[in-house]
Amino acid sequence: MLRVGRVDVLELGYWIAEHLLEQIECKVIPIFEALYSDCVAVFAFDNSSNHAAFSKDALVASRMNLNLSGKQPVMRNTYFGPNNQLQTMVFPITYHDEKLRGKPKGINKQVLIEREKWPPGGLILVCKECKEKIQDISRTTCCARRVISLKPDFIAQKGAIEELIENAGHKCIFPPKFHCELNFIESLNSVNLTTIRKFSRKCWCYMDLYRKGIDGKLVEYAIKKYKSHRRISECVLEELNKFTND
Ligand SMILES: [Zn+2]
Repeated sequence: MLRVGRVDVLELGYWIAEHLLEQIECKVIPIFEALYSDCVAVFAFDNSSNHAAFSKDALVASRMNLNLSGKQPVMRNTYFGPNNQLQTMVFPITYHDEKLRGKPKGINKQVLIEREKWPPGGLILVCKECKEKIQDISRTTCCARRVISLKPDFIAQKGAIEELIENAGHKCIFPPKFHCELNFIESLNSVNLTTIRKFSRKCWCYMDLYRKGIDGKLVEYAIKKYKSHRRISECVLEELNKFTND
């Protein structure tokens, strides 16, 4: 297990996603591969917004405008539909309208029209509910951002860190939000590797219990009952199940 510290960020005075990406690409992965040339690394990140940041050309609906006007990023090409049809997210350099060549397509103007998903009545860019981040899975056609964000290629868009690591042939995990008990990389600066390993095994026990349907205070009781790193006895499990079924 390698621990990764922060590099100097003197020029800005604070740490941003680009610093982390550069550190992973130029330092961490080369060091890991030099030390363990035949191994696949598993990178574990906590839920900082830096860690979830998308790359500049990622397929992100919230960055798109409705029409061609305004500032919007140049996004990467994508594929859609049952035949995996290629869709460029900018107008090709051969486009008949010279002024639009190389310009990003807006959500409605081209992207949804090309996918035959633009309704005759049109759509607003973003509705009130989406703007306020009100969760409702039944709301699928309320506004243009929602429609495009639910397309499989947009849903599948990974963060920049995950893309970088996976493209290098390694793996990347993110513990769930609000579960610090599952996150063995918390507070690592001052602890030794043996303790980190012990804590990672404890995290595994928590995950195992959650998968078995045990939750709340019972988890804290059960975690003490693990006989080995990976096993809880059947009789303890039976005892716990009685509680959860009551
Ligand atoms: Zn909406």
